[in-house]
Amino acid sequence: MSSPKDESVRVTTGQIRPTGGPADTRAKNHSSMRAVLFYGPGDLRLTETEIPFAGPGEVVVKIAVALTCGTDFKAYRQGHPVLLAQRPSPFGHEMAGIVSAVGSGVTGLREGDRVVVLNSAPCDRCFYCRQGTSELCDNLDLLNGAYAEYIRVPPQITRHNVHTLSEYLDFAEAALAEPLACALHAVDKMRIERGETIALIGAGNMARLLVCGLKSRGARVLVIGRNTGRLGLATAAGADEVIDLSREADAIEAVRRRTSGNRGPDGVIEAVGKPETWSLSVAMARKGGRVCLFGGCAAGSKADFDTHRIHYNEIGLFGVFHHRPAYVRQAIELLTKGAVPRALFIDRDISLDEVVPFFSAYHDTSVLKAAVIM
Ligand SMILES: [Zn+2]
Ligand SMILES: [Zn+2]
Repeated sequence: MSSPKDESVRVTTGQIRPTGGPADTRAKNHSSMRAVLFYGPGDLRLTETEIPFAGPGEVVVKIAVALTCGTDFKAYRQGHPVLLAQRPSPFGHEMAGIVSAVGSGVTGLREGDRVVVLNSAPCDRCFYCRQGTSELCDNLDLLNGAYAEYIRVPPQITRHNVHTLSEYLDFAEAALAEPLACALHAVDKMRIERGETIALIGAGNMARLLVCGLKSRGARVLVIGRNTGRLGLATAAGADEVIDLSREADAIEAVRRRTSGNRGPDGVIEAVGKPETWSLSVAMARKGGRVCLFGGCAAGSKADFDTHRIHYNEIGLFGVFHHRPAYVRQAIELLTKGAVPRALFIDRDISLDEVVPFFSAYHDTSVLKAAVIM
């Protein structure tokens, strides 16, 4: 949910170079580490590489926990023209750990700080940054390389998007800050009024984070999906009602029936990323409702909308992409309060040795997140 499709972004690769063959044992000397690198679609390898150093304005973080993410699975299957352009490329983007080296000129971070490291940071100088829409930054700096023992964090990200953690927040929960910040971005753009009914199409990991965000703003949340287990998790995350489309075929009818006066929901969030559900979300909203198109469809997709409905019923449509440093701070605050229970998102711990087999075993199925414990 977080990798930009815009090709104007800049990717920082954390200076990872393989130094030898496959690393099937722990790093033997203090200057080498183990990292999972992407060699091409379906080809990840655990390799021994050099431990990076911190240049001016940078920090190096010893990663404690990385989380797997749907975006990583997609990139594993298809590659990514921007994030994984260089081969081999560092891999993984949700991480938390301990600052192990601090470069010259860095203020506000010290060796030993417990931190979450985000996968991007804006430049502050471009038109979009000056407008306050920094997710659209023309020079967004991106960072990959969470499935490794250490990562070098470039200056732009060190300055904006390395956040220290309270002692009450564990590393795995802290690493949820990235996907949660994307969800909070959508919740913010929905401009929720307390008590409004929001229909959420989709019941995956991101949908569950959206439920937590929507509940924190006082919305009534209806979750629409087909997988009973996932709908149960949505309820556990706080959804007020779930609609199982394997039992109720007409999604629009099922949602309207659960809204006051059968009007339909005040807002709809599409968190699937398919043209059919994009169309469905426009058809579902009440007159004057807002539709947030959160799930990214495959490049070149086209969706059908009834133009009359958008015009005469004044439906507002908008896309939401990625996050901003302000949403990351909000996400950390919610996580610190315990508003996002880890057990609803992370269902297993694996070691760095297990990352490659994990991706090959689950590349086509939808799984909860795994916490990779270094
Ligand atoms: Zn992610
Ligand atoms: Zn910018």
